[in-house]
Amino acid sequence: MKRTSKLLTICGAALLLGNANPAQAWGGTGHKFVARLAIANLPASNFKQWLTKNETWFANASSHPDRWRNRVDHSEAPRHFLDTENFGVGTDALKVPIDFDAVLKLRSYDQLRTDGVNPWTIGRVRANLVKALRERRWEDALVQAAYLSHYVGDAHVPFHATANYDGQLLSPQQRGIHSRFEEKLVERTIKFEDLIVGKPDGISNPITDALRVLNDSIKAVPAILEADRAAALEAGSTNSDGYFEKLSIASRAVAKQRLEAAGRNLAGELYAAWEIAGKPAPEQSVAITDDWLPYAPPFVPRGTPAPPAQPVVSQDVQDKTRLAVVTKTLMSTMLKKQVSYNVVLPVAYGTDNRKYPVIYLLHGAWGGYNDWNAKSGVAAYAASTDFIVVMPDSNGNSWYNDSPGSGAVESFITDELRKDVEKNYRTITNRNGRAIVGLSMGGYGALHLATSHNQLYCAAASLSGAVGWGTSTFDKNLIVMAKDLYPTDTDANYFKDALLPSVLQHLKNGLYNGPSLYFDCGKEDFLIKSNQELEAALLTKQIPHEYSEFDGAHTWTYWDAHIRDAFQFMKRQLAKPQN
Ligand SMILES: [Zn+2]
Repeated sequence: MKRTSKLLTICGAALLLGNANPAQAWGGTGHKFVARLAIANLPASNFKQWLTKNETWFANASSHPDRWRNRVDHSEAPRHFLDTENFGVGTDALKVPIDFDAVLKLRSYDQLRTDGVNPWTIGRVRANLVKALRERRWEDALVQAAYLSHYVGDAHVPFHATANYDGQLLSPQQRGIHSRFEEKLVERTIKFEDLIVGKPDGISNPITDALRVLNDSIKAVPAILEADRAAALEAGSTNSDGYFEKLSIASRAVAKQRLEAAGRNLAGELYAAWEIAGKPAPEQSVAITDDWLPYAPPFVPRGTPAPPAQPVVSQDVQDKTRLAVVTKTLMSTMLKKQVSYNVVLPVAYGTDNRKYPVIYLLHGAWGGYNDWNAKSGVAAYAASTDFIVVMPDSNGNSWYNDSPGSGAVESFITDELRKDVEKNYRTITNRNGRAIVGLSMGGYGALHLATSHNQLYCAAASLSGAVGWGTSTFDKNLIVMAKDLYPTDTDANYFKDALLPSVLQHLKNGLYNGPSLYFDCGKEDFLIKSNQELEAALLTKQIPHEYSEFDGAHTWTYWDAHIRDAFQFMKRQLAKPQN
């Protein structure tokens, strides 16, 4: 019955995403089965107990990645599938390289948008889960576990492993088999109680394992297509009871087998993540709600236009909160001058005695400390959060580094300013109480400062970040700025400030111990390429991170919308206010 609207959605999404794959995968029903079965498959432990306690939320949230595709995150769709044949390996998914760098030698980043990146997504989300578990951030752990459930579930759908994802390559009449198999057949013929509880798979490398799973998935495709042809011929249509009866004789067992395999595989991934994290005892009282989701709520059903990130705060409220922003002045010995910074306090700060985490929010090039407050609704958004937001000045186009041209800006922000804030406000004065966010030059600054001072900050987020700073392929117009900072020996110093080395230094024995990383970029932004290069480098090194590409360019409209996504991310990273 949802067929018409779904087809419209699919076509619309395919156009928007530049992606022909209409996959939605398992539908809500199948994804819930996979999530619940995985919990049942886990051996008895306090980890299993914790997941069981949160089973309803976990099972529901496992479908959310399909909704993000609807909210026009352009990097989302390819995470759900792999068109195996596009990699020049026939239908042998085991021959697809594990290493993302090696994949990029076969297919460009743009081509991968239509080929799919499901295995590396599974690797990434599992790394996020391990990180959250190790750091005992239970809400984030549950969020990451639910998303892992989605992508692992998708890998088990036969039509998610092939370029012939809707039967369309052999015969146009077979179009629609994708959803007939994974949604309608499952909904009509399989109950959760039918699924057999098993044991978790042993997992060595999540990416290797995902490719093995996809290889099993693609093998199931020809028989389903054959059953579809036969059933359609006999029933005379593809939406009658007769058609589904006939289809199920040949294909129900396949669907059931793939769901059961997914339940065992997901259990294996979850258990391995918990083991790698050192089997931490979960805090049993995690009260998770949809507020914890990435991409600020509310969500909308598929097929309706994307809403703003959050209900827009009225101009009135924005103006009022903007006026309430406090400007502090400090005589900096490091910069040898008076400097100003803005502070927004959460509403609750005025009514309690708790200590609060702090987000340092950086502006872009040719900007100043008052940019965020003057040009966005950040004061209003921040007031409703649980963190203090501090907006410092970059002292010119310093790139937030210490340099001969602009002085000790990095040292000022990480030391002198931090101490001033912690002296003047009730803050949580450890790593879990600090994060940095920034836009453009400040996006680079946020990631660079947090990864260079890992002992100080637990997380960093970059919006439209100039993340290629310090690399030879970076935007030529921006490279000229390096000459102002380093009048002599420009190149050596400029390259020293590249972001990736400061991220990679935290990767030891395959585990990343640095700050949590979030970055996003507008699709029309002139900095999109360097953001994609950073994403590719992090996928290659299997470094935990979250990345999104939204509609928009290098504008305040974009930053006003997506600062709220960065705050959503920070909510899952920072400590809660404490007494
Ligand atoms: Zn999916």
